[in-house]
Amino acid sequence: MLSTGLYEDFPTLKMKINGKRIVYLDSAATTLKPKQVVKKLEEFYYNSYANVHRAVHTLAVRATTELEETREEFAEFLGVFPQEIIFTSGTTMAINLVVMSLLRSGILKKDDLVLVSLLEHHANFVPWLRLSKLHGYRIDFIKPSGRFGTLEMDDLLKHRDKNPKVVAITGLSNVTGQRIPVEELRNVFPNSIILLDGAQLIPHEPVKPKEIGVDFLAFSLHKMLGPTGVGVLYGKRELMEQMEPFLYGGEMIDRVSLEDVTFNELPYKFEAGTPNIADIVASREALRYLKETGFDSVHEKIEQLTQMALKEMMKIGGVEIYGPLDERQHGIVSFNVKGIHPHDVAHILDQEFGIAVRSGHHCAQPLMSILKEQSQIDFPNSTCRASFYIYNTEEDVKILVEGVKKVKEWFS
Ligand code: PLP
Repeated sequence: MLSTGLYEDFPTLKMKINGKRIVYLDSAATTLKPKQVVKKLEEFYYNSYANVHRAVHTLAVRATTELEETREEFAEFLGVFPQEIIFTSGTTMAINLVVMSLLRSGILKKDDLVLVSLLEHHANFVPWLRLSKLHGYRIDFIKPSGRFGTLEMDDLLKHRDKNPKVVAITGLSNVTGQRIPVEELRNVFPNSIILLDGAQLIPHEPVKPKEIGVDFLAFSLHKMLGPTGVGVLYGKRELMEQMEPFLYGGEMIDRVSLEDVTFNELPYKFEAGTPNIADIVASREALRYLKETGFDSVHEKIEQLTQMALKEMMKIGGVEIYGPLDERQHGIVSFNVKGIHPHDVAHILDQEFGIAVRSGHHCAQPLMSILKEQSQIDFPNSTCRASFYIYNTEEDVKILVEGVKKVKEWFS
């Protein structure tokens, strides 16, 4: 059962949808927000808000201190230096920053090889693909060969001798929920620049980039109880020092003359313009909330809900579930009901049961094509996706399972 404290912290959970208690199962898209985060926004705007890094007045100093303390807290959380933490608007911007900056600084060049997995969200796929067309580097794909989009170790090993310049891969699939063996990446690709998309992994598991040896790690705070519009990019200092900025403007410069500019030091070189100050500061509350709850208990609870959902959903005939269906699957259950469009399933679950699930291609069209190759049912380019987070309960899973059974019954 959800503890009363937790329930009280998330006012959205008290909402009714068509007379039914909301069952929010769309946390992989974005999570609900605890009161502490919203309260911090209000408190900050009224008491500490000013632009940062510029003025010497008290309010500006207060705002700058809060922002920099937030950076330090994220640095500590990841076990990295504060200079290696760049605040962006989200994972998408963080990854675009890396691709563009690697290109502009000549680290990624024409004919170099970039390896991208086919599990990726478009945020970690489209920038690499599109810019290969414009800049002439080669791109190759790590195809998952296992059950319904499951990436096996051999799928990575196959590419070992290609010596890619860059490997871009997710830590946890936003479609199948598969947790990738991120600890093995550095062994398999000893000389590559590795970018880990942590948008789905970090909300569940605080992996330490330096321990696993990845060069970049990106994630979004809105997927871990924080406000929208805040992303964190960890980048290895030695690499980022060589990299040309992504955006130009205020704050990122040291000196500007008519001839040229010199850049500010890290991390400011990559933070042009006024940052999303209040949301960044409120993100610290989200991180604290998770740390106080304990990432281990967050992980364990979601693990239990995921396994329970998988077990119960597998018993429903005509329901196809994607991903490994074993302990590698975490927090996400993607499925289709034979003969019923996923949008219809999601719509009825919402209207009749108050259940919020996502339906669509989940911004992962290459993976959708792979799921279709193995499917025994003819489904459109989309699935239904139930995803769990800290505030979900076994009761939520039961309501989902009953809901799916009813949808199936009504359509047959
Ligand atoms: N990567 C993965 C694995 C995701 O699930 C998402 C969002 O769903 C993103 C990247 C993009 O995140 P954002 O929209 O916050 O930039």
